[in-house]
Amino acid sequence: MSGIIQDLELVSVTKRYGTALAVNAVSHRFRPASYTCLLGPSGCGKSSTLRMIAGHESVTEGSILLAHRDISNLPPAKRGTAMMFQSYALFPHLSVLDNVAFSLKMKGVDAKERRAKAAEMLELVDLTALADRLPAQLSGGQQQRVALARALITRPQVLLLDEPLSALDPFLRVRMRTELRNLQKELGISFIHVTHGQDEALALADEIVVMNDAVIEQAGPAREVFNAPKTRFVAQFMGGHNVIALPQGHFAIRSDAVGVTPAGSGQMEGHVTAIEYQGTYVSVMSRIAGDQEVTALVPDAAYFDAPHHPGDRIGLTWDAKNLHQLTA
Ligand code: ADP
Ligand code: MG
Repeated sequence: MSGIIQDLELVSVTKRYGTALAVNAVSHRFRPASYTCLLGPSGCGKSSTLRMIAGHESVTEGSILLAHRDISNLPPAKRGTAMMFQSYALFPHLSVLDNVAFSLKMKGVDAKERRAKAAEMLELVDLTALADRLPAQLSGGQQQRVALARALITRPQVLLLDEPLSALDPFLRVRMRTELRNLQKELGISFIHVTHGQDEALALADEIVVMNDAVIEQAGPAREVFNAPKTRFVAQFMGGHNVIALPQGHFAIRSDAVGVTPAGSGQMEGHVTAIEYQGTYVSVMSRIAGDQEVTALVPDAAYFDAPHHPGDRIGLTWDAKNLHQLTA
């Protein structure tokens, strides 16, 4: 949209609320023109980070650079960023078109021009037919697209989204995330999307930034963060992994890389504690030495060829190359 690819950088950014440390000296360079998810549990500092980028929250220490320009102290509208809010906060008495045109009205753009621009944005989010409706006459997904159009009309270089899908039902959530992803590619600007859902982050992100307890634990391409978690926290939070303590340290191994064999024939012995049918896979949970839980995801056909039950003794196998040593 802007034509020029701009990159956003956080330089040792800290946020304190009184004495509470919400973001602790976070540094990160976001990849230009890409979809980044800020992922982490509730309270880890995601929204504070996003709000500081948007300018809705002051930076306690450090700086935020966009295209090498320090934007830390600029008002939100002057930064080149735009935020789509968690609650879409549409004006109930304004039509869809006027909601989208609102920020241009504030800027003093004349009626004809702002309506033309708003119509363009509605076309982008596929809402042209609903331009005259009031927000109350729209579904949740449609309201969300209005909110998107309203944020995009300012032509931001970076669009910031705070849990944008959390209010939608699961079916709509999956559809909207495809739309968000397509829109980001089409516009070629950066999207930074806050979520606490690892599945959402994996589905959407070029890059995932995992936060925990006010710091970034790991950042990288989605596939790398999933396949090669560096810390116990990342392995557990991303899911799909076992964290096993061995004499040489802690290791992560994907649950689908653990095989189940007859008792006495694996690398380890386990007692089955629970079986969960998951459709494509069956999840076989067992307890190994040291009271550790290990989950093996077994393809359904393989499981039903040789089913196991709670209390059974089994062997567990894996290829050593699939073990990833964790640093913390
Ligand atoms: P997340 O979005 O990851 O859930 P937040 O950035 O909202 O996390 O919050 C990080 C920490 O800062 C939390 O402990 C939260 O309670 C605290 N916090 C957030 N906003 C405020 C505020 N306005 N005043 C005081 N504390 C806040
Ligand atoms: Mg939040």
